[in-house]
Amino acid sequence: MTRTVAFVGLGHMGGPMAANLVGAGHRVLGYDVVPEALAAAAASGVEPAASAAAAAAGADVVITMLPAGRHVLELYGERGLLASARPGTLFVDCSTIDVADARAAHAAARAAGHRALDAPVSGGVVGAEAGTLTFMAGGGAEEFAEAEPFLSAMGGKVVHCGSAGAGQAAKICNNMILGISMIGVSEAFVLAESLGLDHRALYDVASTASGQCWALTVNCPVPGPVPGSPANRDYRPGFAAPLMAKDLNLAANALRAGGVDAQLGLKAAELYAAFAEGDGAGLDFSAIVRTIRGSGAGTATASPASPASPASPASPEETTTDGTAP
Ligand code: NAD
Repeated sequence: MTRTVAFVGLGHMGGPMAANLVGAGHRVLGYDVVPEALAAAAASGVEPAASAAAAAAGADVVITMLPAGRHVLELYGERGLLASARPGTLFVDCSTIDVADARAAHAAARAAGHRALDAPVSGGVVGAEAGTLTFMAGGGAEEFAEAEPFLSAMGGKVVHCGSAGAGQAAKICNNMILGISMIGVSEAFVLAESLGLDHRALYDVASTASGQCWALTVNCPVPGPVPGSPANRDYRPGFAAPLMAKDLNLAANALRAGGVDAQLGLKAAELYAAFAEGDGAGLDFSAIVRTIRGSGAGTATASPASPASPASPASPEETTTDGTAP
Protein backbone atom coordinates (compact mmCIF):
# COMPACT_ATOMS: atom_id res chain seq x y z
CA MET A 1 0.00 0.00 0.00
CA THR A 2 1.32 3.45 -0.89
CA ARG A 3 1.90 5.61 2.20
CA THR A 4 3.37 9.06 2.71
CA VAL A 5 6.75 9.10 4.42
CA ALA A 6 8.59 12.17 5.72
CA PHE A 7 12.35 11.62 5.50
CA VAL A 8 14.61 14.09 7.33
CA GLY A 9 18.39 13.90 6.91
CA LEU A 10 19.25 13.07 3.30
CA GLY A 11 23.01 12.58 3.64
CA HIS A 12 25.25 9.66 2.67
CA MET A 13 22.84 7.16 4.21
CA GLY A 14 19.50 8.97 4.20
CA GLY A 15 19.66 9.97 0.51
CA PRO A 16 19.80 6.43 -0.89
CA MET A 17 17.45 5.11 1.82
CA ALA A 18 14.80 7.67 0.83
CA ALA A 19 15.35 6.78 -2.84
CA ASN A 20 14.64 3.12 -2.04
CA LEU A 21 11.34 4.11 -0.39
CA VAL A 22 10.41 5.97 -3.58
CA GLY A 23 11.40 2.85 -5.53
CA ALA A 24 9.05 0.78 -3.34
CA GLY A 25 6.15 3.01 -4.43
CA HIS A 26 5.84 5.36 -1.44
CA ARG A 27 5.36 9.10 -1.60
CA VAL A 28 8.42 10.57 0.17
CA LEU A 29 8.50 14.15 1.44
CA GLY A 30 12.14 14.97 2.15
CA TYR A 31 14.07 17.63 3.99
CA ASP A 32 17.73 18.37 4.72
CA VAL A 33 19.39 21.60 5.92
CA VAL A 34 21.94 21.23 3.11
CA PRO A 35 20.30 22.28 -0.20
CA GLU A 36 22.61 20.02 -2.27
CA ALA A 37 21.48 16.97 -0.30
CA LEU A 38 17.84 17.92 -0.88
CA ALA A 39 18.46 18.47 -4.60
CA ALA A 40 20.19 15.09 -4.94
CA ALA A 41 17.25 13.38 -3.23
CA ALA A 42 14.79 15.24 -5.48
CA ALA A 43 16.59 13.80 -8.49
CA SER A 44 15.69 10.32 -7.24
CA GLY A 45 12.00 11.14 -6.82
CA VAL A 46 11.83 12.58 -3.28
CA GLU A 47 9.48 15.60 -3.03
CA PRO A 48 11.40 18.47 -1.39
CA ALA A 49 9.64 20.04 1.61
CA ALA A 50 10.19 23.59 2.87
CA SER A 51 11.12 22.37 6.36
CA ALA A 52 11.27 19.20 8.43
CA ALA A 53 8.03 20.22 10.17
CA ALA A 54 6.31 20.75 6.81
CA ALA A 55 7.36 17.26 5.69
CA ALA A 56 6.09 15.70 8.93
CA ALA A 57 2.75 17.52 8.76
CA GLY A 58 1.58 15.48 5.77
CA ALA A 59 3.09 12.10 6.61
CA ASP A 60 1.96 8.72 7.98
CA VAL A 61 5.50 7.87 9.09
CA VAL A 62 8.44 10.19 9.90
CA ILE A 63 11.94 8.77 9.41
CA THR A 64 15.06 10.61 10.61
CA MET A 65 18.68 9.82 9.62
CA LEU A 66 20.80 12.42 11.40
CA PRO A 67 24.36 12.75 12.72
CA ALA A 68 23.77 12.55 16.50
CA GLY A 69 21.24 12.44 19.33
CA ARG A 70 21.14 16.18 19.84
CA HIS A 71 19.99 16.66 16.23
CA VAL A 72 17.16 14.18 16.73
CA LEU A 73 16.01 15.69 20.05
CA GLU A 74 16.26 19.28 18.74
CA LEU A 75 14.28 18.38 15.67
CA TYR A 76 11.61 16.52 17.65
CA GLY A 77 11.28 19.42 20.12
CA GLU A 78 12.42 22.96 19.32
CA ARG A 79 12.15 22.51 15.56
CA GLY A 80 8.58 21.37 15.82
CA LEU A 81 8.59 17.91 14.24
CA LEU A 82 6.43 16.31 16.91
CA ALA A 83 4.17 19.36 17.18
CA SER A 84 3.45 19.48 13.44
CA ALA A 85 2.67 15.79 12.87
CA ARG A 86 -0.84 14.33 12.90
CA PRO A 87 -1.76 12.65 16.22
CA GLY A 88 -0.52 9.06 16.46
CA THR A 89 2.15 9.42 13.76
CA LEU A 90 4.91 6.80 13.86
CA PHE A 91 8.41 8.30 14.34
CA VAL A 92 11.28 6.03 13.28
CA ASP A 93 14.80 7.23 14.06
CA CYS A 94 17.46 5.38 12.06
CA SER A 95 20.42 7.53 13.23
CA THR A 96 23.08 5.98 15.48
CA ILE A 97 22.68 7.81 18.79
CA ASP A 98 23.12 7.36 22.55
CA VAL A 99 20.76 4.80 24.10
CA ALA A 100 19.74 7.49 26.61
CA ASP A 101 18.93 9.94 23.79
CA ALA A 102 16.96 7.25 21.98
CA ARG A 103 14.87 6.64 25.11
CA ALA A 104 14.38 10.40 25.51
CA ALA A 105 13.20 10.58 21.88
CA HIS A 106 10.70 7.76 22.52
CA ALA A 107 9.42 9.56 25.64
CA ALA A 108 9.08 12.90 23.81
CA ALA A 109 7.15 11.27 20.96
CA ARG A 110 4.81 9.49 23.38
CA ALA A 111 4.27 12.69 25.40
CA ALA A 112 3.23 14.45 22.18
CA GLY A 113 0.66 11.73 21.39
CA HIS A 114 2.77 9.83 18.84
CA ARG A 115 4.51 6.44 18.61
CA ALA A 116 8.23 5.76 18.18
CA LEU A 117 10.81 3.19 17.13
CA ASP A 118 14.61 3.40 17.21
CA ALA A 119 15.99 1.56 14.18
CA PRO A 120 19.73 2.14 13.62
CA VAL A 121 21.40 0.35 10.74
CA SER A 122 24.40 -1.71 9.79
CA GLY A 123 25.71 -2.07 6.25
CA GLY A 124 27.14 1.36 5.39
CA VAL A 125 26.57 3.45 2.26
CA VAL A 126 26.92 0.37 0.04
CA GLY A 127 24.06 -1.31 1.93
CA ALA A 128 21.98 1.91 1.89
CA GLU A 129 22.32 2.16 -1.88
CA ALA A 130 21.64 -1.52 -2.50
CA GLY A 131 18.70 -1.63 -0.07
CA THR A 132 20.36 -4.38 1.95
CA LEU A 133 20.86 -2.68 5.34
CA THR A 134 20.32 -4.55 8.57
CA PHE A 135 17.88 -2.70 10.87
CA MET A 136 17.99 -3.20 14.66
CA ALA A 137 14.71 -1.96 16.10
CA GLY A 138 13.65 -0.96 19.60
CA GLY A 139 10.06 -0.22 20.59
CA GLY A 140 6.66 -1.84 20.94
CA ALA A 141 5.50 -4.82 18.86
CA GLU A 142 2.77 -2.78 17.16
CA GLU A 143 5.18 0.00 16.19
CA PHE A 144 7.63 -2.59 14.88
CA ALA A 145 4.92 -4.31 12.80
CA GLU A 146 3.87 -0.98 11.28
CA ALA A 147 7.44 0.10 10.49
CA GLU A 148 8.59 -3.29 9.17
CA PRO A 149 7.41 -2.86 5.52
CA PHE A 150 9.19 0.52 5.29
CA LEU A 151 12.37 -0.87 6.82
CA SER A 152 12.23 -3.91 4.53
CA ALA A 153 12.06 -1.58 1.53
CA MET A 154 15.43 -0.17 2.63
CA GLY A 155 17.05 -3.28 4.08
CA GLY A 156 17.73 -6.98 3.76
CA LYS A 157 17.22 -7.87 7.42
CA VAL A 158 15.03 -6.29 10.09
CA VAL A 159 15.39 -7.46 13.70
CA HIS A 160 13.12 -6.45 16.59
CA CYS A 161 15.60 -6.27 19.49
CA GLY A 162 13.25 -5.24 22.32
CA SER A 163 11.76 -2.13 23.89
CA ALA A 164 12.76 1.56 23.53
CA GLY A 165 16.51 1.93 22.95
CA ALA A 166 17.13 -1.78 22.30
CA GLY A 167 18.04 -1.14 18.65
CA GLN A 168 20.70 1.37 19.66
CA ALA A 169 21.91 -1.03 22.38
CA ALA A 170 22.35 -3.83 19.81
CA LYS A 171 24.17 -1.50 17.45
CA ILE A 172 26.75 -0.28 19.98
CA CYS A 173 27.30 -3.73 21.51
CA ASN A 174 28.00 -5.15 18.03
CA ASN A 175 30.34 -2.32 17.10
CA MET A 176 32.16 -2.58 20.44
CA ILE A 177 32.92 -6.22 19.58
CA LEU A 178 34.11 -5.06 16.15
CA GLY A 179 36.35 -2.26 17.47
CA ILE A 180 37.97 -4.51 20.07
CA SER A 181 38.41 -7.37 17.60
CA MET A 182 39.98 -5.12 14.95
CA ILE A 183 42.54 -3.93 17.49
CA GLY A 184 43.17 -7.55 18.56
CA VAL A 185 43.65 -8.77 14.99
CA SER A 186 45.93 -5.81 14.20
CA GLU A 187 48.04 -6.43 17.32
CA ALA A 188 48.37 -10.10 16.34
CA PHE A 189 49.66 -9.19 12.86
CA VAL A 190 52.16 -6.73 14.32
CA LEU A 191 53.33 -9.33 16.85
CA ALA A 192 53.68 -11.83 13.96
CA GLU A 193 55.83 -9.32 12.08
CA SER A 194 58.13 -8.90 15.07
CA LEU A 195 58.44 -12.69 15.37
CA GLY A 196 59.19 -13.12 11.64
CA LEU A 197 55.88 -14.89 11.00
CA ASP A 198 54.41 -14.31 7.54
CA HIS A 199 51.01 -12.55 7.26
CA ARG A 200 49.72 -15.35 5.06
CA ALA A 201 50.77 -18.05 7.54
CA LEU A 202 49.02 -16.29 10.43
CA TYR A 203 45.94 -15.72 8.27
CA ASP A 204 45.76 -19.33 7.09
CA VAL A 205 45.90 -20.58 10.68
CA ALA A 206 43.75 -17.98 12.47
CA SER A 207 41.04 -17.79 9.79
CA THR A 208 40.21 -21.45 10.31
CA ALA A 209 41.03 -21.59 14.03
CA SER A 210 39.70 -19.89 17.14
CA GLY A 211 40.99 -16.44 16.10
CA GLN A 212 38.44 -16.32 13.26
CA CYS A 213 36.32 -13.13 13.15
CA TRP A 214 34.95 -10.52 10.69
CA ALA A 215 37.87 -8.17 11.39
CA LEU A 216 40.22 -10.91 10.16
CA THR A 217 38.40 -12.74 7.39
CA VAL A 218 36.54 -9.86 5.73
CA ASN A 219 38.21 -6.58 6.73
CA CYS A 220 41.73 -7.98 7.19
CA PRO A 221 43.96 -5.05 8.31
CA VAL A 222 47.03 -6.10 6.29
CA PRO A 223 47.14 -6.30 2.50
CA GLY A 224 47.23 -9.68 0.80
CA PRO A 225 45.23 -12.39 2.54
CA VAL A 226 41.78 -10.90 1.78
CA PRO A 227 42.04 -9.14 -1.60
CA GLY A 228 38.87 -7.06 -1.14
CA SER A 229 39.78 -5.60 2.26
CA PRO A 230 40.49 -1.83 2.51
CA ALA A 231 44.16 -2.57 3.35
CA ASN A 232 44.60 -3.42 -0.35
CA ARG A 233 43.49 0.04 -1.47
CA ASP A 234 45.51 2.20 0.91
CA TYR A 235 42.78 1.88 3.56
CA ARG A 236 40.16 3.82 1.62
CA PRO A 237 36.90 3.21 3.59
CA GLY A 238 34.96 0.89 4.00
CA PHE A 239 33.95 1.90 7.45
CA ALA A 240 35.69 5.17 8.25
CA ALA A 241 37.67 5.44 11.49
CA PRO A 242 35.68 8.51 12.71
CA LEU A 243 32.44 6.47 12.51
CA MET A 244 34.02 3.68 14.56
CA ALA A 245 35.26 6.30 17.05
CA LYS A 246 31.72 7.71 17.26
CA ASP A 247 30.13 4.31 17.90
CA LEU A 248 32.75 3.35 20.51
CA ASN A 249 32.18 6.67 22.25
CA LEU A 250 28.46 5.82 22.44
CA ALA A 251 29.38 2.41 23.86
CA ALA A 252 31.74 4.05 26.39
CA ASN A 253 28.96 6.42 27.49
CA ALA A 254 26.65 3.46 28.06
CA LEU A 255 29.39 1.51 29.90
CA ARG A 256 30.00 4.42 32.27
CA ALA A 257 26.29 5.08 32.76
CA GLY A 258 25.71 1.42 33.60
CA GLY A 259 28.83 1.04 35.75
CA VAL A 260 30.03 -1.83 33.54
CA ASP A 261 33.70 -2.75 34.02
CA ALA A 262 34.52 -3.28 30.31
CA GLN A 263 38.13 -2.24 30.18
CA LEU A 264 38.75 -3.29 26.58
CA GLY A 265 35.69 -1.40 25.35
CA LEU A 266 36.85 1.78 27.08
CA LYS A 267 40.40 1.34 25.82
CA ALA A 268 39.18 0.73 22.26
CA ALA A 269 37.14 3.95 22.46
CA GLU A 270 40.21 5.86 23.62
CA LEU A 271 42.47 4.40 20.89
CA TYR A 272 39.95 5.04 18.11
CA ALA A 273 39.23 8.60 19.31
CA ALA A 274 42.94 9.47 19.05
CA PHE A 275 43.28 7.64 15.72
CA ALA A 276 40.22 9.33 14.17
CA GLU A 277 41.45 12.78 15.18
CA GLY A 278 44.92 12.10 13.79
CA ASP A 279 46.21 9.80 11.05
CA GLY A 280 42.96 7.89 10.68
CA ALA A 281 40.69 10.85 9.85
CA GLY A 282 40.03 9.79 6.25
CA LEU A 283 40.89 6.11 6.50
CA ASP A 284 39.16 2.80 7.06
CA PHE A 285 39.14 1.77 10.73
CA SER A 286 41.43 -1.19 9.94
CA ALA A 287 44.28 1.29 9.30
CA ILE A 288 44.76 1.37 13.08
CA VAL A 289 47.24 -1.45 12.40
CA ARG A 290 49.66 1.25 11.19
CA THR A 291 49.44 3.11 14.48
CA ILE A 292 50.02 -0.11 16.43
CA ARG A 293 53.00 -0.94 14.22
CA GLY A 294 54.36 2.59 14.46
CA SER A 295 54.03 2.95 18.22
CA GLY A 296 55.95 -0.24 19.09
CA ALA A 297 59.68 -0.34 19.87
CA GLY A 298 60.11 -3.90 18.56
CA THR A 299 61.99 -5.16 15.52
CA ALA A 300 59.17 -5.00 12.99
CA THR A 301 59.84 -6.87 9.75
CA ALA A 302 56.67 -6.43 7.74
CA SER A 303 56.03 -9.42 5.54
CA PRO A 304 55.14 -8.87 1.89
CA ALA A 305 51.60 -9.38 0.71
CA SER A 306 50.95 -12.90 -0.53
CA PRO A 307 48.71 -13.82 -3.45
CA ALA A 308 45.05 -14.45 -2.76
CA SER A 309 44.11 -17.78 -1.32
CA PRO A 310 41.29 -19.65 -3.07
CA ALA A 311 39.77 -20.09 0.39
CA SER A 312 39.58 -16.32 1.01
CA PRO A 313 36.15 -15.22 2.21
CA ALA A 314 33.85 -12.77 0.48
CA SER A 315 34.97 -9.21 -0.21
CA PRO A 316 33.55 -6.39 1.97
CA GLU A 317 31.37 -5.34 -0.94
CA GLU A 318 29.81 -8.80 -0.97
CA THR A 319 29.38 -8.83 2.80
CA THR A 320 28.13 -5.25 3.13
CA THR A 321 25.39 -6.02 0.66
CA ASP A 322 24.13 -8.84 2.85
CA GLY A 323 24.09 -6.46 5.76
CA THR A 324 26.90 -7.85 7.85
CA ALA A 325 29.17 -4.80 7.71
CA PRO A 326 29.20 -2.04 10.37
P1 NAD B 1 25.65 12.50 6.87
O1 NAD B 1 26.34 13.58 7.62
O2 NAD B 1 26.07 12.20 5.48
O3 NAD B 1 24.06 12.81 6.83
C1 NAD B 1 23.35 13.46 7.85
C2 NAD B 1 22.45 14.49 7.20
O4 NAD B 1 21.63 15.12 8.20
C3 NAD B 1 23.24 15.63 6.52
O5 NAD B 1 22.88 15.72 5.16
C4 NAD B 1 22.84 16.88 7.31
O6 NAD B 1 22.79 18.03 6.52
C5 NAD B 1 21.47 16.48 7.81
N1 NAD B 1 20.99 17.24 8.96
C6 NAD B 1 21.66 17.57 10.11
N2 NAD B 1 20.85 18.28 10.92
C7 NAD B 1 19.66 18.40 10.28
C8 NAD B 1 18.42 19.02 10.61
N3 NAD B 1 18.23 19.67 11.76
N4 NAD B 1 17.41 18.96 9.71
C9 NAD B 1 17.57 18.32 8.53
N5 NAD B 1 18.72 17.70 8.17
C10 NAD B 1 19.75 17.75 9.03
O7 NAD B 1 25.74 11.19 7.77
P2 NAD B 1 25.45 9.69 7.32
O8 NAD B 1 26.74 9.03 6.96
O9 NAD B 1 24.32 9.69 6.37
O10 NAD B 1 25.02 9.06 8.72
C11 NAD B 1 23.73 9.30 9.27
C12 NAD B 1 23.59 8.45 10.52
O11 NAD B 1 23.76 7.07 10.18
C13 NAD B 1 24.63 8.75 11.61
O12 NAD B 1 24.00 8.68 12.86
C14 NAD B 1 25.67 7.64 11.43
O13 NAD B 1 26.36 7.34 12.62
C15 NAD B 1 24.78 6.48 10.99
N6 NAD B 1 25.47 5.46 10.19
C16 NAD B 1 26.30 5.81 9.17
C17 NAD B 1 26.94 4.81 8.43
C18 NAD B 1 27.86 5.17 7.28
O14 NAD B 1 28.56 4.27 6.78
N7 NAD B 1 27.88 6.42 6.82
C19 NAD B 1 26.73 3.46 8.74
C20 NAD B 1 25.83 3.12 9.75
C21 NAD B 1 25.21 4.13 10.48
